[in-house]
Amino acid sequence: MTHQLKVIERKQLQEKPDPATLGFGTLFTDYMFSMDYDPELGWHDAVILPYQNIELSPAAQVLHYGQAVFEGMKAYRTGDNVRLFRPDENFKRMNKSNARLNMPEVDVDFMVDALTQLVKLEKEWIPTGEGQSLYIRPFIIATEAYLGVRAATHYKLMIILSPVGAYYGSDHLAATKIYVEDEYVRAVRGGVGFAKAAGNYAASLMAQTRATELGYDQVLWLDGVEQRYVEEVGSMNIFFVIDGTVVTPELNGSILPGITRKSIIELAQHLGYTVEERRISIDDVFEASASGTLQEIFGSGTAAVIAPVGSIKYRDQEIEVNDSKVGPITLDLYNHFTAIQNGTEEDPFDWCV
Ligand code: PMP
Repeated sequence: MTHQLKVIERKQLQEKPDPATLGFGTLFTDYMFSMDYDPELGWHDAVILPYQNIELSPAAQVLHYGQAVFEGMKAYRTGDNVRLFRPDENFKRMNKSNARLNMPEVDVDFMVDALTQLVKLEKEWIPTGEGQSLYIRPFIIATEAYLGVRAATHYKLMIILSPVGAYYGSDHLAATKIYVEDEYVRAVRGGVGFAKAAGNYAASLMAQTRATELGYDQVLWLDGVEQRYVEEVGSMNIFFVIDGTVVTPELNGSILPGITRKSIIELAQHLGYTVEERRISIDDVFEASASGTLQEIFGSGTAAVIAPVGSIKYRDQEIEVNDSKVGPITLDLYNHFTAIQNGTEEDPFDWCV
């Protein structure tokens, strides 16, 4: 494992975008991070270099058998102060994904240091408007040119950075419409659902396309065995407020262990809410709605932090949640969470770097 990090300078820097026009994931900063793996040297040739295309053999294993994992996190800036939110958690999760996909482990401390150095170099790219941030995308692909089906011997890890606008645009904390998918599943226990494997996202696209066509914002995924238990919503974890208790599906192997999820559980407990991690069926949700105990639902993830759910459609029934408005507990958690991320509120958990 190398601990040397070279920097190759870029001759001409790009012009920074107008912050008012920022979307998601279309613009990339001047520099990126790259390092390679082979069995002899381990991870080596760690370098920060100008953002550019990469060369890959058409036989590279990632293109055929999908050995690819990724991560997603954000950097925030207030004045000269740059903050990362629990970056060690992302690289720890990357190692869990690596292990499941038979890919080599990375040194978490080295990766956090390398990322910190890259983000510092690109500080001017971090937009400072309300809800804006620098999206960070680390990923690993199998680069070995070989068509046999087995774990590759050669890999490339890269980090690219993209300035992004507010997730909601001007429609701050607008409630989303959810479609419960009861034909396709995202993941199964024993599979790769808990890993941030690229293929999981390919498998999710068809259902998302259908939900969009039907006028819904996101898919709610049920478990892959009985198609009864709630797992995730789009690429977010899901929380319910039922009779005053904050409930989220327990991690079972097919759910991605979100860092926002974990942090919301810790924050909610810190704020005095009761939190339960347990199995919850879609029937439980509809029954709670019928009996009047279903108070709030929200999704959690790096992109939106918290996204209130306004309605859920399951087969031929549709329920509305809290009159399609953001609920008080959702709002309380959102306000504290974003204040800790932005540094406007003290960080009692030491989450920010
Ligand atoms: N579930 C899935 C399937 C995701 O892709 C993500 C985004 N990484 C999440 C949940 C939320 O995870 P996090 O809070 O770490 O962003």
